[in-house]
Amino acid sequence: MEDFHFVDKEMFCEGVSVPRIAAEAGTPFYLYSYAALERQFKAFDSAFRDVPHLICYAAKANSNLSILKIFSRLGGGADIVSGGELFRSLRAGVPAEKIVFAGVGKVRGEIASALRSNILMFNVESLQELRLINEVAKSEGKIARVALRVNPNIDPLTHPYVSTGMKQSKFGIDIDEAMKDYLEAQSLPHLKVIGIHQHIGSQLIDLKPFIEALSKIVEFIGKLKASGIEISYLDIGGGLGITYQDETPPLPCEMAEALVPLLKQAGCIVILEPGRSLAGNAGILVSRVLFTKSTSGKNFLIVDAGMSDLIRPALYQAYHEIKPVVRTGRPPVKADIVGPVCESGDFFAKAREIAQLEPGELLAVMGAGAYGFSMASHYNSRPNIPEVLVKGDKFFMIREREEYEDLIRHEKIPSFLA
Ligand SMILES: *Cc1c(COP(=O)(O)O)cnc(C)c1O
Repeated sequence: MEDFHFVDKEMFCEGVSVPRIAAEAGTPFYLYSYAALERQFKAFDSAFRDVPHLICYAAKANSNLSILKIFSRLGGGADIVSGGELFRSLRAGVPAEKIVFAGVGKVRGEIASALRSNILMFNVESLQELRLINEVAKSEGKIARVALRVNPNIDPLTHPYVSTGMKQSKFGIDIDEAMKDYLEAQSLPHLKVIGIHQHIGSQLIDLKPFIEALSKIVEFIGKLKASGIEISYLDIGGGLGITYQDETPPLPCEMAEALVPLLKQAGCIVILEPGRSLAGNAGILVSRVLFTKSTSGKNFLIVDAGMSDLIRPALYQAYHEIKPVVRTGRPPVKADIVGPVCESGDFFAKAREIAQLEPGELLAVMGAGAYGFSMASHYNSRPNIPEVLVKGDKFFMIREREEYEDLIRHEKIPSFLA
């Protein structure tokens, strides 16, 4: 995480002082490092250089237009899961021929827009979806390129909420059922089967599940071939973990080293869908201490960001490192770091050792670049917070802070109340 480093006592992002940005943007805000985003993308790109590949950044991790643009300018595409993400990706200039569309609940309108844009392929998650895509393609006068998302039934050894490749998962098609669905896909006149897709989970720390799942998929590609179904695209999904606390996830080059032999054996164009591992450690959430409070031997730091801005601790019991933005040399205390939202689940850390902070001082929630802003809500009628991008010694507002008017923009008062 050298992109967020200390110069003397003050945290910097690349060449810009974080307190300086806070003075200009106000708090709370998200802060991203261009250098970190670029470095992670290039790490994947060079790790897989020995196989033909396309990196389709998982837009849901952080779908700010500027972030999407950064990856597409480096040659990446997008893995999308909704019509909204299609709209964003196209608006950011991601070429349609580098967009893949996953998700268990695609609706007719989303399928039609994706067909009209000519995306690379749909990653199809059920037989009914396959039939619907065929039907929509027919009415649009198109041929839909499809891959089936196959569920290899591998335990990814991660948090159950981000485990997606087990038999009981809502995602994908059971590998034992997939042949029959492939045969049907092959027979539908407005579909062209071009690929196979898997995504077994997120925040994976161990390579073993990746290897086991991919082995099953590669074996299955052989069976498909024997049945006359040619697979040109092998989409291995995302899921590589990052360091939040003391995890030591494999590097992209270690992942590649383990997977490339299998990928070569498959002989397909490889699609990768990293999300968290590209954006997670490239961003932080900067917040200001509002109050400190001690009750019956317990300390609280009440800060101006909350679960409406970053929900991961509340949703997944996720751990985020938290650092004072200016080092004071004060002794550490043990405190719960909590937000202003009216929920007991609104916390960033519990019983955390942190140098004593006073009201008005800044702290940084680390590892907040992925599944941070993109999961933000308006709960408690809190306007969404700004996003700031640093490149070298400059910073750019890539999203303005919302105003109260934004909160009610789409609300209507019926005539009997007017
Ligand atoms: C969420 C998701 C990803 C990205 O997962 P990360 O863990 O952020 O890398 C990739 N592919 C699909 C289909 C997803 O749903």
